[in-house]
Amino acid sequence: MVRTVAVIGAGTMGAGIAQMCSQTGWKTNLFDAFPEGLEKGMATIDAFWDKGIARGKTTPEQKLEWSANLHAISDLEEAVSQADLVIEAVPEIVSLKHGIFAQLGQMAPEHCILATNTSGLSISDIAEASGRGDKVIGMHFFNPVPLMKLLELIRADTTSDETAAIAESVGAAMGKTTIMVNDIAGFATSRLGVVLGNEAIRMLAEGVASASDIDTAMVLGYRHPMGPLELTDLVGLDVRQHILNNLAEVHGDEKYRPHPLLNALVAEGSLGKKSGKGLYDWSSGEKSERDMPDY
Ligand code: NAD
Repeated sequence: MVRTVAVIGAGTMGAGIAQMCSQTGWKTNLFDAFPEGLEKGMATIDAFWDKGIARGKTTPEQKLEWSANLHAISDLEEAVSQADLVIEAVPEIVSLKHGIFAQLGQMAPEHCILATNTSGLSISDIAEASGRGDKVIGMHFFNPVPLMKLLELIRADTTSDETAAIAESVGAAMGKTTIMVNDIAGFATSRLGVVLGNEAIRMLAEGVASASDIDTAMVLGYRHPMGPLELTDLVGLDVRQHILNNLAEVHGDEKYRPHPLLNALVAEGSLGKKSGKGLYDWSSGEKSERDMPDY
């Protein structure tokens, strides 16, 4: 039974996951390797709850109860030593994730399940790094975590039935719909999502249409809730670049390589909504078209 959860990484995803865990009633320890990362994550959660109160969706009493469950912790061992479940949400860099899972395998209690929010890295390799393969599973949440219904669960070769069942019950307790996917790079979601986004960037670079017209094509022509370029800005250009590079390597297929315009945008620091600029300019709070860098 899950009572205490540790979330590793307090960025876009970690903050949302920690928010959901504390709202579900679990004691939630949020850890980040950087003090400013931890502060920003806690502030994001606080602002989400305040907005809910202002809109009448959350009561001040709920906020009090949820925030009492949530703890910002700057020491990894302290964050995980009492945990029943750890959910890792650090950047999509394979060596970083392997290093953290090796530490988690040493620091977390024996019964503790270790989950990764990776968008596409091998769960089996991450499981091996932890030294407790039966307890490791992919728990892939979507952005923004409190609003998105899907939780994609990914079984490594070594994941036990018990771990899979607990992960399913964790998703259900959070109010998510779970799907169970095999550990093939890109899973069921990222593989399609990044290809669509990368192709939309190629179309923008080739001058097919403006960014907003490409997005409108998919929103009104295909009933997507959001266009592929705006979604790339929401997810983070750096995040998508990592996923594409990993897919290109693992599947040995150049069709997954990030378009040079995506690489140029990341290189100049245009990472999407989180940095104020990506495929659109977000600096005014609303999206507007922008000039693209040379590449
Ligand atoms: P992010 O860059 O917003 O946040 C990452 C956080 O991890 C930062 O706060 C950073 O300070 C922290 N961090 C860096 N090194 C660390 C370490 N060694 N220990 C602890 N914390 C560390 O990234 P994100 O968008 O939240 O993505 C996190 C993971 O979730 C990635 O694997 C990504 O592929 C996956 N993911 C992202 C999205 C999305 O829409 N952004 C969706 C699904 C899955």
